[in-house]
Amino acid sequence: MDKLTTAQSGLFEMQHQYQQLIEENQRLQQALEKEARFDRYRKEETPQGDWVLSLKEDFVTPDEPPHSICPLCREEGRYSLMSRNSSTYRCGFCKYVAKYAPSGISDEVLRKA
Ligand SMILES: [Zn+2]
Repeated sequence: MDKLTTAQSGLFEMQHQYQQLIEENQRLQQALEKEARFDRYRKEETPQGDWVLSLKEDFVTPDEPPHSICPLCREEGRYSLMSRNSSTYRCGFCKYVAKYAPSGISDEVLRKA
C-alpha cells in the first residue's frame, strides 16, 4: 500500500512538472513570435540623423504598406507604429520624435526662413 501511495504521488509530481513545461514552452513560443515580428524591420537613418525602424521592402504587400515603428519602444519589446507628417515621425506611445525631411526641402525651408 505504501509503495502504491509513493508511486501515486510521484505520478502527480510528474504531471505537475509536465504541465509547467507546457506552460513554459508556450511562453517561450509567444516571446519568439513577438521577436520575429521585429525581424521584418531594419534601422533607417533619416536625413536629419534620427533613427526609425522601417519595414523591409521584401515584406511590403498591399496589406502591409511601407511604415516605420519606434526604435525606443522596440527595445522594450513593444510594437509601436510611428505616424508621419511632412517633417517628422512620431511614436504615439513614448512620444519619441524622429525628424524627417528630404534634405532638398529642408534647405529650401532654411533659405526662406
Ligand atoms: Zn516609442
